[in-house]
Amino acid sequence: MLSQTDMMNSLLFLFGVLFALAFVYAAFISLREKETRAARKFLLSAVLLPLPFVLTAVFSFPFKGVVLAILMLAVILTLCIYFLPFGKNKSYRQVIPVQRIDERDTMFSRNELVPGSARFRDYYRRNPEKKPLDDAFRKNPGLLQEGTTQYNPFYFASADASFETIAALRDVVDGTVSNKQIPVDAGKISRYIKNWSKKLGAVDCGMTTLKDYHLYSVGGRAARYDKPIEKQHEFAIAFTVEMDHEMVKSAPAGTMVMESGQQYLESGRIALQVARFIRNLGYEARAHIDGNYQVVCPLVARDAGLGEIGRMGLLMTPKLGPRVRISVVTTNLPLVVDEPLHDYSFIDFCVQCKKCADVCPSRAISFEDREVIGGALRWQINQESCFTYWTKAGTDCGRCISVCPYSHPDNAMHNLVRTGIRNSSAFRTLALKMDDLFYGRKPVPAKPPEYLQQ
Ligand code: SF4
Ligand code: SF4
Repeated sequence: MLSQTDMMNSLLFLFGVLFALAFVYAAFISLREKETRAARKFLLSAVLLPLPFVLTAVFSFPFKGVVLAILMLAVILTLCIYFLPFGKNKSYRQVIPVQRIDERDTMFSRNELVPGSARFRDYYRRNPEKKPLDDAFRKNPGLLQEGTTQYNPFYFASADASFETIAALRDVVDGTVSNKQIPVDAGKISRYIKNWSKKLGAVDCGMTTLKDYHLYSVGGRAARYDKPIEKQHEFAIAFTVEMDHEMVKSAPAGTMVMESGQQYLESGRIALQVARFIRNLGYEARAHIDGNYQVVCPLVARDAGLGEIGRMGLLMTPKLGPRVRISVVTTNLPLVVDEPLHDYSFIDFCVQCKKCADVCPSRAISFEDREVIGGALRWQINQESCFTYWTKAGTDCGRCISVCPYSHPDNAMHNLVRTGIRNSSAFRTLALKMDDLFYGRKPVPAKPPEYLQQ
C-alpha cells in the first residue's frame, strides 16, 4: 500500500506530466495558428514549469515537505483564480443611448462629400469644426488607392471586387412582399431562421425588438442622404460572420481589407437571403448591408445577445471577439427575442487590457475608462484619426482587431482561457499577462497568407 508521502509524490509527478502535456499541446496549436513566438514560449514552458513538480516528486532533500506544500498551494490557488468569481463580476445594466446617430456624421458619409457641391457646403456650414479634420484625410491618396503605404494592386483589386459586388446588391435590400401571408409560430420561425442562417454561413444569429436608438436619425449616403429615418419594423435580426484569423493577423496589410470586403459580402448575402425569405412568407423585411444601413449594426447585435461593445467600439463576441462582420434584417415577422448578455467580464477585461490602444497607429483608441457619450456609458474611438490613417494606408487597418486577445481562434485551448476570463476578474489579469508574454504586447503584423504572397 502507498504511504501518504508516496501518494503526494505521485500526485506531484502527475501534475508535472500534465503541465508538460498541456504546454506541448498549446505549442502544437500555436504552430498550426502560425504563432511561432507563442509556440516557442509554450515549448519552453513545457520544459521549465513541470520541472519543480517532477524534481520534488523524484528526489529527497531537506525541507522537501515545505516545497511540496508550496507547490500544492500554487496549484490550488490557480484553480481558485480560474473558477471562483474573484473581483468585479457584477452583472450590470446597459445604459440606453438617448441620442440617435446621424449617419451624415460618419466618416464614410463625409468621405463621399464632393468638394464644391451643395452637400459639401451645407455639411461644413453646419459642422465647421469638422472641416480641418476632414481636410486632413482628403490630402491622402484614399482607400484602395495607388500611392498608399499598403498599396498592392492584387489585394486592392480583390477587395474592390468584393465591395463592388456588394454595391451591386444595395438596391435589393427591400422588395415586394408576397400577398399570401403564411401564419407562423414565433418560436418555431425564430429557431428556423437561426439554424438556417448558420447553414448559410453565419457564426451566430440573435433577435431583438428594434429600438429607436438602433436607427440612424438621418440618412447619410446615396439616395437616403438628408432623409430622416423612421422606424418601420418591430424586430431586428443580427448575423455575425467570422473574419479569417490569418488574414486579420496581417493587418494593416491589403489582405485585411480583402477580408473585410469578403465578409461584408458574406454577411450581406445572408441578410439578403433571410429578408427575401421573410417577404416570401408575406411579412415585411429589409436587409441592412454594407453601404446601405439604416441601423447601427453593433448596437443591434449587442441587444440581440451576440456580444458586448468593447474599448475599440466594436462588437466583442464570446468566441471570436471583434473578428466578425455584422449584418441585420429588420422585419415585422413575429419573433422571440434574445436577452442581451449583460456580461461585465468583457468590460472589465477591456478596462485592464488596452492592447488595441497601445498598437493603434493613429492613437484613435482611448486609454481612459468609459465615459457617458450620447447618454450611454461607453468608449468612443476618434473616428477622424482612424479614418485619416485608413486613407494613408489604403486599407481599413484592423490592427486593433488583430491584436485583441479575444480574437484568437475558436478552439479548445483559447476557449479554456475564455471560460476563466468570464469566471473571474483575477484570472482576467493573469490571462492578460499571459497573452502579453506569449503573443507580445505589440505583436508584429504577420505576413499575408502564403497562398496570397506574390
Ligand atoms: S484589445 Fe483589449 S482593450 Fe482592446 S478591445 Fe480587445 S480586449 Fe478590449
Ligand atoms: S482600425 Fe487601425 S487606426 Fe483605426 S482604431 Fe483600429 S488600430 Fe486604430
